[in-house]
Amino acid sequence: MQAFSFRTVPHLLIERGASARLGDVLATRFQARRVCVVTDGFLHASGLLQPALASLRAAGFDVLVIDDVQADPPDVVVDAVTARARAFGAQLVLGIGGGSSMDVAKLVAVLLAGTQALAEMYGVDQVRGERLPLVQVPTTAGTGSEVTPIAIVTTGATTKSGIVARQLYADMAVLDADLTTGLPATITAATGIDAMVHAIEAFTSRRLKNPLSDQLALQSLDLLSRHLLRACQDGQDLEAREAMLLGSLLAGQAFANAPVAAVHALAYPLGGRFHLPHGLSNALVLPHVLRFNAETAPAAYAQLAEALVPGLSGEVPAKAQAFIRHLEALTAATGLPMRLREHGIPADALPQLAADAMLQTRLLVNNPRELSEADALAIYRSAF
Ligand SMILES: [Zn+2]
Repeated sequence: MQAFSFRTVPHLLIERGASARLGDVLATRFQARRVCVVTDGFLHASGLLQPALASLRAAGFDVLVIDDVQADPPDVVVDAVTARARAFGAQLVLGIGGGSSMDVAKLVAVLLAGTQALAEMYGVDQVRGERLPLVQVPTTAGTGSEVTPIAIVTTGATTKSGIVARQLYADMAVLDADLTTGLPATITAATGIDAMVHAIEAFTSRRLKNPLSDQLALQSLDLLSRHLLRACQDGQDLEAREAMLLGSLLAGQAFANAPVAAVHALAYPLGGRFHLPHGLSNALVLPHVLRFNAETAPAAYAQLAEALVPGLSGEVPAKAQAFIRHLEALTAATGLPMRLREHGIPADALPQLAADAMLQTRLLVNNPRELSEADALAIYRSAF
C-alpha cells in the first residue's frame, strides 16, 4: 500500500439543537472563559445565534461577538478582528457562520497566540507556533471549513490567497442542522454543489488521494447527491439538512487531506474579479473542467459514476461521461443559472480569468490532467 498521512479535527459533535447548549459543551471541554465569537453581521442580526450566545453566557463565559466578517474576507478585516479580540483578552476563538467566518476564526486564533504577521503566513506550512483553542460551528453546508486546515483571504483588489497549515485544524467542530434551516434555496444549492466538488476533487486528486479520503468522498457524494434537491425544495426538511451538513463535513475531511484542484483554481478568479459566491463559481465551471479531465483520466469518474448512478453499464469513458451528465442534471434541477454570461461576466474578461487561474499553482498541481492557460480559456469559453 502507498504510504499516506491523514489528519482531521479530533472532536466532532453532530447533534441537532447542540448550539443551544454550546455553553455547557465548551465549559466541560476547555479551561478558557473569555470567548471571542467570530461571525458576520447578517447572521448576528438574524437572531440565529441567540441560543448559542445565551448558553455561553449562562455557562459563565465572557463573550465578545465580532460580526465584521464579510464574504471573501480581506486581509485588513482579519487584522482588525484580531486587534479587537486581543484587546478583549480572548482565550478561546469560536467561529460561527459560513466559510468566511470560520476561516477568519482560524487566523485570529493563530495570530493572537504568536507574533507572526498575516502576510508571512500565505502558502503551505508557513505558520509558526501554536494557536488559541478554536471551535467551529458551521451555518452552511458546503465549505467544510470546520474540518480543514485552510483559510482563504482576499489580498489586494482581485486576488485570493490561501493559508494551509496544521495549526488551522480546530480543536472541535459542532454541527447543528437547526442552524442551516433558514438558508435560502439558491445558497443551499451553491454551497451544496461546492461540497460535492470537494468530494469529487479529493477523489481525483493527483498527489495525496488515499484510502480514507476516498471513502469519505464516496460517502459524502452519496449523501449530498441524494439530499441536495430535498434541502433546496424544503429548507425545513431537517433530515435533508442534516445529511447535507454531514456530507459537507465528510467532503471537508477528504479534501483537507487530498486537496482540491482545477475546478477550484478556475472558480477563484470568478470570485476575485466578479464577486461571485464561492459555491456558485465552482458550480459554473464544474462540468467543463470534468469533461476536460475525463478525456485523459476517466477511471476515477467512472468509479464515482458506479457509486452514484444506479444500473450503469458500459465502458470506462462512457461511465465517466454518465457521471458528468448526472451532475449536470442535478445542478440544473436546482434552478441555478449555469452560464457565466447569466452572472454578468463579459466575454472579453475570459482571457484575464484564464491568466488569473494559472496563478493558483497550489491547486493546479493536484489536477488529474495538466492544464495550460489555453486550456483554462477554452474551459471558460465552454462555460460562457
Ligand atoms: Zn470549495
